[in-house]
Amino acid sequence: MKVVLQNLTKKFPSRGRKAGGDVTAVKDFTFEIPDGKLVGLLGPSGCGKSTTLFMICGLQKPTAGQIFFGDYEVTELAPEKRGVGMVFQNYALYPHLTVKQNIIFPLQNLKGKDRLSKAQMEEKAYEAARLVQIEDLMDRKPGELSGGQQQRVAIARAMVKMPKLLLLDEPLSNLDARLRLQTREEIKKIQRETEITTVFVTHDQEEAMSISDRIVVMKEGVMQQAGEPQEVYDSPVNLFVAKFLGTPPINVFQGKVKQGGLYIGNARVLEVKRLPDQEVVVGIRPEGFVLDANGPLECGLSGVEVMGRDISVVSVNDFSLNPTIRSIIDAESKVDTACGAVRFSLKPNKVLLFDKNSEERIY
Ligand code: ATP
Repeated sequence: MKVVLQNLTKKFPSRGRKAGGDVTAVKDFTFEIPDGKLVGLLGPSGCGKSTTLFMICGLQKPTAGQIFFGDYEVTELAPEKRGVGMVFQNYALYPHLTVKQNIIFPLQNLKGKDRLSKAQMEEKAYEAARLVQIEDLMDRKPGELSGGQQQRVAIARAMVKMPKLLLLDEPLSNLDARLRLQTREEIKKIQRETEITTVFVTHDQEEAMSISDRIVVMKEGVMQQAGEPQEVYDSPVNLFVAKFLGTPPINVFQGKVKQGGLYIGNARVLEVKRLPDQEVVVGIRPEGFVLDANGPLECGLSGVEVMGRDISVVSVNDFSLNPTIRSIIDAESKVDTACGAVRFSLKPNKVLLFDKNSEERIY
C-alpha cells in the first residue's frame, strides 16, 4: 500500500517561550511512500522525524494537510483503525507476559469478523516469531532475553497483524554496534520478504543509506531532499544534505571560480568551464582526493590512519572550513609522512560546488 503525505504541517503550542509563537515541528511536508518499499526518514535530532511518524499512525493530528493510505484518506481516522504496526525506540514489552503472550497481545483486541480463536492466535504468533527467529524463546519473559532478542519480540509484535504499513522509530538504538548491523540487515530481509510498506526513522545516515530504497532528509521540519540513497549522496541539493550524508563527512573549503577554473587559495584545482566568476563553497568527498606528486592542491600532512582496506590521510589547508581534511586513499598508496606536506589532484565527480550565500548546489 502506498502512503501519500500531502502538505503535512504540525505545530505545537509554545510553552514558556517568552517570544511566543508555535513550534513548527513539521512544515508543508509532501511525499509519496511507494507501495512495498522501505523509506528511511533521517535528519538531526529535533528535525521532526518522530512527529511525522506519529501523524502517519494517527497518534498526533496534523495542524494542516492530508494523509492517504492508497486512495483512502485517513487524516481523521483513529490510530487503531489504520492497520499500522509500530516499533518505538523504547519498545516496552509487557514484563509479566511471556514472549508468546506479548506477541499475541495485539490480536486479542480484534472484534467482530476479525476475531480469532486461541489456536489461530498462536499460529499467527509463531509465524511472526519465525520471521525474526525467536520461535525458541516463546515461553521466556522479556527479563530473560538479551536487548537484541527483546527488540525482535517488539518487531514480531508489530508484524503479527500483518500490518499494511510498518513504522519503525529508531528501533535499533538500544543495540550494540554489531547487533545493530545484524538486526538492520534482518529488518531489510523481512521487509523484502513481506513487502510491507515501511518507514524507518533514524538519525544515523549510514544506517538509513544501507537499508532504504528511498531516503528523505529533513531539517527543522522541512524536507530537504528525497531519492535513492546513492542519488542523494551523489547529487545533494544543498550543503546541509551533502554534509549530513557520508562517513567520513564531506570536506568543505572556501573557494572561487575564476575564468573557468576552480580555485582553492591560489591553486587552480579543477576546470569548471560553464560557471561564471564567483565565490563558492567547495565540498570534496573523502574519496575524491588522489595522491599526486604534481597535484594542484597542497595540504599540510597531519597523519595517516590505516583502516584495513583503505588509508585515511589527515591533512590541513588554510582554506578548509573544517579543522582537518580527511581523504580516503587505497591502501596500496605510499604516503611519505616525513615530508610534512601532501599534494592531491581531485576526481571531478566528487567535487560539489555550493552558492556561498544560499548554500544551494550549483555544480
Ligand atoms: P529525535 O531524533 O531527537 O527523536 P525528531 O526528529 O524525531 O528528533 P521530533 O520529536 O519530531 O524530532 O520533534 C520535532 C520538534 O517538535 C522538536 O523541536 C520538538 O521539541 C518539538 N516537539 C515534539 N513534540 C512536541 C510536543 N508534544 N510539544 C511541543 N513540542 C514538541
